[in-house]
Amino acid sequence: MTDVTVVLNVGSSSIKFAAFSDLRREPTPLLRGKITNIESAPLMKACGRNGVAYGRSELVEFAPDADPVALIKDLLGWLADMEADMCLVAVGHRVVHGGQHRTGPALVTPTLLAELEALIPLAPLHQPHSLEAIRTVTAVLPGLPQVACFDTSFHRTQPRMAQLFALPRNLTEAGVIRYGFHGLSYRYLVGNFPELFGGRADQRVIIAHLGNGASLCAIKDLRSAATSMGFTALDGLMMGQRCGAIDPGVLLYLIEQKGMSAATVGHILYEESGLLGVSGISSDMAVLEASAAPEAREAIELFCYRAACEIAALLPAIGGLDALIFTAGIGENSHRVRGLICEHLQWLDMVIDRGANVLSRTRISAPTSKIDVLVVPTDEEVVIADMTQRLLALKNIDGSV
Ligand code: ADP
Repeated sequence: MTDVTVVLNVGSSSIKFAAFSDLRREPTPLLRGKITNIESAPLMKACGRNGVAYGRSELVEFAPDADPVALIKDLLGWLADMEADMCLVAVGHRVVHGGQHRTGPALVTPTLLAELEALIPLAPLHQPHSLEAIRTVTAVLPGLPQVACFDTSFHRTQPRMAQLFALPRNLTEAGVIRYGFHGLSYRYLVGNFPELFGGRADQRVIIAHLGNGASLCAIKDLRSAATSMGFTALDGLMMGQRCGAIDPGVLLYLIEQKGMSAATVGHILYEESGLLGVSGISSDMAVLEASAAPEAREAIELFCYRAACEIAALLPAIGGLDALIFTAGIGENSHRVRGLICEHLQWLDMVIDRGANVLSRTRISAPTSKIDVLVVPTDEEVVIADMTQRLLALKNIDGSV
């Protein structure tokens, strides 16, 4: 019997999943996959080890009713049927918000669930999905240990200055601070620093996590020193559908002068802005890159310009820059975006090797560059599996599970 940890990474429009045996012995997942289009026509892709499609077909027709709860139920059933000698021992979840005080993963209990539910207003688009996944697993497999791994935890090491807004003190005390997100991705990449930078663990690094959601994290001494996302996942970079940093006066104008409701403004900021809003074509970078429309070009150029501005804005937090790492869907795949962002940063003596960039090599900076520029795939699922297995091993030693 192989003990298996399942990871569920439930987003607002997709569910990523993976199954791992003991990570210390076997870092490659038994399988991993993604269900996309969960709101319309769900499509699942799953791969076994070595990138080989799991089972006979890479595409599996799956849960046509498109209800995320039913999808997770089907997924658990599918995973359980897949390997006769597999024993599901735990599920690790990505949970977007862990609040001010959670600095690491936590075992799911009714008390924790209540605590996380209270955070829904801080991440209304993401938190409910994670909690629904936890509740579904509890209903299908009662008693199975579950671990919540938070996107916010990684940033709790930040100095107070990096977390404060210039707002009245009573609001800060009520929790209106910069939380930051994408922490599981950043944690994974920092875990690779010894390999990437040899013995130089003190490197001043900015990681650019550029996916549908996008953010930056400035790292010093292997810790988060500052990040571009703030109280919510709206702040900072321009994203697929989100606006990123914006003059708050715009919101007042839309509400007071244009008579928009808070819900309408929220919809514009979360769903209709970013690459989609500026291009009027798509929120998908690959689609925009393939388009000849000037609006598509303008959206890509604004995305890159804003990213460079935000990178520069993080430099005081780490006192300079030794390396820039690109990761996630856009960061790992779009040489055009990487090239344009780095062009805006040439004044830092950042020089790109165009050939290496086009080939998405790990190191895309030229030997003459003062700053290393790297492309490194991220892997949130590995981090979640690792956190889950470590936490449960500790609890087992304690005898509390
Ligand atoms: P998330 O996990 O936040 O949903 P991803 O990290 O999967 O997002 O990134 C999705 C983004 O990556 C999309 O905008 C997609 O177009 C972009 N992307 C993926 N592959 C490419 C590519 N080859 N060229 C340009 N953009 C790409």
